[in-house]
Amino acid sequence: ESLINRIAAGEIIHRPASALKELIENSLDACSTSVRVTVKDGGMKLLQIQDNGSGIRKSDLSILAERFTTSKISTFSDLSQLATYGFRGEALASISHVAHLTVMTKTKSDTCAWKACYEDGTLIPAKAGLTQDPKPCAGNDGTTIIVEDLFYNTPTRLSSLRSSSEEYARILDVMTKYAVHNSAVSFVCKKAGSTSSDLSTPSGSTTEQVIRLLYGHSVAKELIHVTTSSNPSKDEGRQSDGNDEGAMDVDEDQDEQDDPEAWSAEAYMSGASYHAKKTVLLLFINNRLVDSPRIKRSLEATYSSILPKGASPYIYLSLRIDPRSVDVNVHPTKREVHFLNEEKIIERICDAIQEALSGGSR
Ligand code: ADP
Ligand code: MG
Repeated sequence: ESLINRIAAGEIIHRPASALKELIENSLDACSTSVRVTVKDGGMKLLQIQDNGSGIRKSDLSILAERFTTSKISTFSDLSQLATYGFRGEALASISHVAHLTVMTKTKSDTCAWKACYEDGTLIPAKAGLTQDPKPCAGNDGTTIIVEDLFYNTPTRLSSLRSSSEEYARILDVMTKYAVHNSAVSFVCKKAGSTSSDLSTPSGSTTEQVIRLLYGHSVAKELIHVTTSSNPSKDEGRQSDGNDEGAMDVDEDQDEQDDPEAWSAEAYMSGASYHAKKTVLLLFINNRLVDSPRIKRSLEATYSSILPKGASPYIYLSLRIDPRSVDVNVHPTKREVHFLNEEKIIERICDAIQEALSGGSR
């Protein structure tokens, strides 16, 4: 049975970066404003993520790494929770089947932090033979998750990994994208033992500031900002003047909340003077980093009219759709998603982008 669990876990956690993605999601779900990651050996030896979020109640620690038990969908009746996609309660369970997992956590009302270690889905005693309960320890409010020796018991997965530097590059890539999408949150990533960080964003930044910081001036100098939605009368497909505050957190419209076909999109994109070799696409659907070859192709086609042959754009696109329209049959950790009216929505977004690119944003 443990072998089956391991194989299943390996389907969800492919490599250090995919574990990290899940852990970042959890930290953001817990309303953290700071996410600090420490990595050893490309994340294969150590992947540690420290946040300052809500923390986990001590009473929840015993079932934390059991599959499906923590599923946010069972604890939150509010459908909007589905928007996080983190609704299957599988990430920590999966990690515990293929790595040594330690959780240190403190809620605001706790007087001390609690430490718990997991193996194969269950809480293990800190010292064999002793109590199964989590151990009290020192710590700040928030949660630190420590993943050690990833795939130590899954040789096939282990052998499919690349070099530490390549795995580390993937970790930085995931963090960079989440940092852009959550510009108000401070992200820091460094190698264990190193005093300097390889990625660092201050909290409270705007989207543009983070893009400038992480992708450089060449992308940021001519950044175009486009918003559009299922309700075009309220749209302002507008071009950024460079001082735009990130408008990502605008409250959803009351009447749109009840419409399963309602959607809204916001994009920050390079202009005609920016030529990348390959398209850089940061695609978030309901705050989840996903892949969509279809969206990518459509965006590239939209740009082909303003870019010379062989040149590619930079695009950060955040799409919010009603969680009921997302294809939930697609596994939540599969990065490729599908949703209702996909074709129509993509077309509308590309039209808005086309308009902004050709300068006629009003
Ligand atoms: P899911 O996110 O699908 O519920 P996970 O296995 O990713 O499943 O996480 C299990 C549960 O552990 C979450 O539902 C959440 O309650 C809790 N949790 C995990 N990470 C954190 C964190 N960093 N801060 C607060 N709670 C967390
Ligand atoms: Mg999760």
